[in-house]
Amino acid sequence: MRKPFVAGNWKMNTDSQGSVELAKAVADGSLGAAGQSVDVAVCPPFVYLKSVAGAVSSSNIAVGAQDMYYEAKGAFTGEISASMLKDIGCTYVLCGHSERRHVIGETDELINKKVAAAIGGGLLPILCVGELQSEREASQTQDVVTRHVKEGLAGLSAEKASAVTIAYEPVWAIGTGLTATPQQAQEVHSFIRELLGRIYDSELAEEIRIQYGGSVKPASAAELMGQTDIDGLLVGGASLKSDDFLAIIQAAL
Ligand code: PEP
Repeated sequence: MRKPFVAGNWKMNTDSQGSVELAKAVADGSLGAAGQSVDVAVCPPFVYLKSVAGAVSSSNIAVGAQDMYYEAKGAFTGEISASMLKDIGCTYVLCGHSERRHVIGETDELINKKVAAAIGGGLLPILCVGELQSEREASQTQDVVTRHVKEGLAGLSAEKASAVTIAYEPVWAIGTGLTATPQQAQEVHSFIRELLGRIYDSELAEEIRIQYGGSVKPASAAELMGQTDIDGLLVGGASLKSDDFLAIIQAAL
């Protein structure tokens, strides 16, 4: 039985005071719910990770980073390692978010190194995968998702891969207000689970959590969560409003 997992990606938003206030509001509002029947994480910008980790330390809310670098330390100006994230209280890290793939230009090879280094450093990676609108229109969704999953997990044993959450985030649905229908999302989630079964085995495929992300709102969360292979939600815009994020957590219970 896969435990639901809701994560909020704050992207490049909030400030020092607002990030702590938002984190506290989420921690206070999800008392009991988070940790008991649903895993919840918030992913603030790097510079607010430590204060947010402090603000949620007496709750069951976990903290995740939005990215990391795969090297352990050294001359990599501007980068942050898994051990640094672990050191300040992070549990999760997003790898290969679509904005990093398509705005910053990250490749599957780089993302794979990050996923492996995250696991090696004791973090739980959330590997984001998903097709562009043009790729969906060209019936390439399965090909793109196959490449993102296979290359993102390349070289990882089943034991290591079990630390990963996959987030299916169709790029055309991120920040656009266009949500995939629950049926469209379920179709891809079930495809990803079958693919995991082919890459590894059915036991691992049943164990790995697959989140949906893309303009999730309180009104759409319950129906998405009602789909067999949707185990959680990765929430961008709506995670910046505590009431909306708390309503989404409730929908995942
Ligand atoms: C995201 O940032 O992963 C995301 C899904 O954003 P939004 O919910 O705003 O579409």
